Amino acid sequence: MLKIIQGNFKLFDAHCHLPYSLFISSFNSINEVNLSNQPKELLSRNLAFSSTFISDFPSCDLYNSFHDESRCTIGGVGIHPWFAHLQQLNEPISILANLTPEPTKYNIKTIFDSIVSNNTKDDDDNGDNAMPWVKEMQSRFLLFPKVFIGEIGLDKSFIARETNKNEIIKQIILFIYQFNMAIRYQKPVVLHCVQAHGIMYDIIRLFIDHYNNLPPNIYFHSFGGPIDCAKSYYKLKTFGNRFYFGFSAVINNRSPKTKSVIASIPDDKLLLESDLECLDNYNEYMMDMVQLIAEAKNWEIEETIEKTHNNAKRFYSL
Ligand SMILES: [Zn+2]
Repeated sequence: MLKIIQGNFKLFDAHCHLPYSLFISSFNSINEVNLSNQPKELLSRNLAFSSTFISDFPSCDLYNSFHDESRCTIGGVGIHPWFAHLQQLNEPISILANLTPEPTKYNIKTIFDSIVSNNTKDDDDNGDNAMPWVKEMQSRFLLFPKVFIGEIGLDKSFIARETNKNEIIKQIILFIYQFNMAIRYQKPVVLHCVQAHGIMYDIIRLFIDHYNNLPPNIYFHSFGGPIDCAKSYYKLKTFGNRFYFGFSAVINNRSPKTKSVIASIPDDKLLLESDLECLDNYNEYMMDMVQLIAEAKNWEIEETIEKTHNNAKRFYSL
């Protein structure tokens, strides 16, 4: 299968964290005589880079700046839920004292109202009082019209090293801020959701009720939820067509349900991804996932590459 994929430059990695320097060094090696197996030719010439923290934004800038017919790349800006407790989060922190540590529907609504509904300032994230990470994101919206927002989300399984606990309330605050930006600026958004699908769904419903709108496209990356969870999004009235679902070998191949979940996703909403930040075994992971999608969907290998490529381009408007 490696042979088939080599020479097929359509492979599109819809979600990864490869620093630009790694990507470009591998890309440049394509034309060099390859005497040993290292450095290997990277199979993906098309990819979407998601940031997890402000320090990733320069890589995102490079991906957005340098692309041509031979390689199609795009970068996103966002703060990952694992770093929520390290961010400055303005006003809503003051309401934290009154909340129970567990995210109840009441807590979620209180936070949502504080950030979205009761916000009287007409542009809450502008001006000198803007949180530093918001300013950094906004500057990219001006520079790169196609930049997306990601990776953002919720993770109930993650224990923050600095506080030794799961920081779900701060994650919810950070997520609501960023998802709100994705709606107001109409940016595609890439979501991380682990053991928090109920909370995520409740928050997305609050946004629909408030704006009667959502970001133009929404992508659950390395989707680990059950079939019914995916269905609850892609069957949503009016907005169901905006939801995409990606799968990576590194995360999803551990789960026996992955194949049946992939089979259930609409053909035009399925994305192929590596979710990797380094080149180790990159090609093998990508090929494993191509194979799994092909089996789940009963597609040929070439067809799998072609369809997921087209879906990624449509998702990111490339
Ligand atoms: Zn990721």
